[in-house]
Amino acid sequence: MRAVVAREAGGPEVLTLTEMPDPDPGPGQVLVRVTAAGVNFIDTYRRRGVYPMSYPHAVGVEGAGVVESLGEGVEGLRVGDYVAWAEGPGSYAELVALDAAQAVRVPAGLDLTTAAALPLQGMTAHYLVSSTFEVAPGHDVLLHAGAGGVGLLATQLAAARGGRVITTVSSPEKGALSLAAGAAHTIDYAEFSDVSTDLPRVVRELTDGAGVHVVYDGVGRTTFDASLASLRRRGMLVLFGGSSGQVPPVDPQRLNRGGSLYLTRPTLGHYIATRAELEWRASEVLGAAASGNLDVRVGATFPLADAGAAHEALEGRRTTGKVLLVP
Ligand code: NDP
Repeated sequence: MRAVVAREAGGPEVLTLTEMPDPDPGPGQVLVRVTAAGVNFIDTYRRRGVYPMSYPHAVGVEGAGVVESLGEGVEGLRVGDYVAWAEGPGSYAELVALDAAQAVRVPAGLDLTTAAALPLQGMTAHYLVSSTFEVAPGHDVLLHAGAGGVGLLATQLAAARGGRVITTVSSPEKGALSLAAGAAHTIDYAEFSDVSTDLPRVVRELTDGAGVHVVYDGVGRTTFDASLASLRRRGMLVLFGGSSGQVPPVDPQRLNRGGSLYLTRPTLGHYIATRAELEWRASEVLGAAASGNLDVRVGATFPLADAGAAHEALEGRRTTGKVLLVP
């Protein structure tokens, strides 16, 4: 089969399409023929060596496809089943040997390409708005990168829960997408000379001076100060990523001075740690897409051989919604 590996830690150019033996499903695993693999920021962090990995590293954690064979002891799945996953090894490939415990069934009516676009960013959007900070009617929400993969999905989910969602975006085109997803206001933060002061000023204008109940910040380094300064008293900053870079260490006194604020740094793995929680989030997100209640935008699709170009586009802020690779 063909699969993409990172030869060593580095830029997008280290991604190489290689021939390798078909994987054998071990005990408790299923062999899946991949229809599409999701491209995620975690893939770029691992490629770059932000997290320690051994190289060559088989890239990709997310996808959807058809079960081709079963390893020993697998129950509840059959050959021919449609499955999707958010935490699978080496998903930029034609075939993946996946722990059955990580596979979720794709509901009837949802095509496998759309299913591949949802597990990681969709379940992230789900836990952010329904578990980390439970958005409810009356809540003002600030969400950065509103036209991104997590951004478009989290906007829809937060608005459906009754929140008033304010997003940041870096272009008018991204603003239009964010509004179509249900944002009440978008703010083009690329226009500001100083995001850390200009953004909170606009957020306060939009909230009668009070600030927002919650900020979902996946941009990190360049937005963190603005996020803290945009919160109302006892508001919560949910820092869930660093697409612009990681946030340096924080003095807890800043939470005191900001108004007894809360800061959390959550990760999807801790919100799908049990099979029950994984199935709950997956069925809500995939089910909403299958029934037409969640719009899934696939902004770009690349062949496996162009995985490097897909990473360049994601890291270069040139993508909207989901980026997929197809074998
Ligand atoms: P996106 O599709 O949102 O892409 C990232 C966006 O970040 C860009 O499109 C861009 O939007 C914005 N951005 C701002 N500054 C920069 C910069 N300097 N370089 C690159 N992008 C920048 O990505 P995802 O939806 O896949 O992920 C969003 C964030 O969520 C990432 O940080 C990711 O690591 C994190 N994440 C965290 C999870 C968790 O459980 N903690 C799980 C999944 C994702 P714009 O041009 O509008 O500014």
